[in-house]
Amino acid sequence: MTANPKQVLRDVFGYDAFRGPQAAIVEHVCSGGSALVLMPTGGGKSLCYQIPALCRPGTAVVVSPLIALMQDQVGALRQAGVRAAALHSAESADAAATTWRQLQSGQLDLLYVSPERLLGGDLIDRLAALPLALFAIDEAHCVSQWGHDFRPEYLQLAVLAERFSAIPRIALTATADPRTRAEIVARLSLEQAAVFLASFDRPNIRYLLRDKSEPRRQLLEFLDTQRGHSGIVYARSRKRVEEHAAALKAAGHDVLPYHAGLPPQTRSAALERFRLGSGVVVVATIAFGMGIDKPDVRFVAHVDLPKSLEAYYQETGRAGRDGLPAVAWMLHGAGDVPPLRRFIDDSDAEPAQKRIEHGRLDALIGFAEASSCRRRILLSYLGEAGSSDCGNCDVCLEPNQGADVTEPARKALSAVYRTGGRFGAAHLVDVLLGSETARIRSLGHDQLGVHGIGKELDRGQWRSLFRQLTARGYLVAAADGHGGLQFGDDVLVKPLLRGETRLEIRLPPAAKERRGAGA
Ligand code: ADP
Ligand code: ZN
Repeated sequence: MTANPKQVLRDVFGYDAFRGPQAAIVEHVCSGGSALVLMPTGGGKSLCYQIPALCRPGTAVVVSPLIALMQDQVGALRQAGVRAAALHSAESADAAATTWRQLQSGQLDLLYVSPERLLGGDLIDRLAALPLALFAIDEAHCVSQWGHDFRPEYLQLAVLAERFSAIPRIALTATADPRTRAEIVARLSLEQAAVFLASFDRPNIRYLLRDKSEPRRQLLEFLDTQRGHSGIVYARSRKRVEEHAAALKAAGHDVLPYHAGLPPQTRSAALERFRLGSGVVVVATIAFGMGIDKPDVRFVAHVDLPKSLEAYYQETGRAGRDGLPAVAWMLHGAGDVPPLRRFIDDSDAEPAQKRIEHGRLDALIGFAEASSCRRRILLSYLGEAGSSDCGNCDVCLEPNQGADVTEPARKALSAVYRTGGRFGAAHLVDVLLGSETARIRSLGHDQLGVHGIGKELDRGQWRSLFRQLTARGYLVAAADGHGGLQFGDDVLVKPLLRGETRLEIRLPPAAKERRGAGA
């Protein structure tokens, strides 16, 4: 029996049309091709393998890292009349035996398995004797050591390419950055696979960033605009989660704290109540993450900066999966940065890895400090060159407070040029401020024309300017990974240096003023 994808979409899933690249992906996999699918959260990745699973003969094996995710999917599929089951550590021996019998007698369209289960025992040998429709590898970024969610078990999935070379493999992820993508291709041997890249834009999400002054009051005011809506509030530490949750409760919100320090039953009960309820606000650390498959999350609020711009995109991406308007609201202040820097410095990572992490954090800070369309910056970070301002972020919606920084920006670029494009922002700022450090003298940088020409800004402002020049593509990190800055795109740099374009950027207030304001 060969079913028609369009008909399966309608009859089984009840949808009229494929979305974005779904149709092309489904057709490719149905005809036996392997694929790498990069699609944002909520984009509709599941159908990309579920429909081929039903159109192709044999059972589709879906590798998924989270039991809760598998249970959701199996439950939803069964409700739609699809023969699906899961094998993982939380299944009883009886249930596993039943699943196995169904599998052997060809009564399963989809089998969800954890990677441990697939590769641990003899399951893979047993599967080799059965007709298989395809392998789907969900959350494929878990194979990337560079990515944010590395799972060592995923590395062993490389054997699928060797043992099942004739069976299509479809790897799916919502992580778009090119480096993670390359790692997925290499580790899962997907060099021959077609790559499907959906737009990562989430137009229904409104990005609102706010300077952090009184976080508690600001959060309460924001939540007042969200009464009755389900949402997530992310905070950095367990302690802060508890404190914010208590304050919100006192203000009459239906809130639940969530962090890794709570007993597992408490956590799963919270997750359940959030999933099924409406108007429930979860205040959480990033432990509340993957597998939240609630379509009507109306807001995600960050009272502290996330770890990276990628993390910000993933976390805010949990809002508005139903396509209806949603808000990503974030407070940011200069005080957020030092703890994040310390966290990186104190980790066990190799120095090269630490530099990468600092670079990722810089991109986030550049985004938070920017005075141009948030969505454009976010999408350009994810490799999508946006053409126009979005009209749905704070910068687009509210009057711009950027200052003309054309002259300082030209000085910054000159400092990069005169020092040979090999130095990081810290050193370049020293040069511009005219510092007389031993390093500057030994390099002869005190002899350069740019030495000491940048007294109009203080250190914090220069650092912000360098970050924002990097976030906007005027500067790029040198490829050697040592943190040196070089010129970015000629199309941007040249006109600015020649004085043909001007640049407006919002800089933090000078340190003196900041102290003055606090006194
Ligand atoms: P992802 O795994 O990419 O985060 P899902 O596969 O969970 O996304 O799909 C997100 C939501 O979009 C689900 O509620 C799903 O039913 C819905 N959806 C997916 N494809 C379509 C479609 N072609 N038409 C309408 N709704 C769709
Ligand atoms: Zn915008």
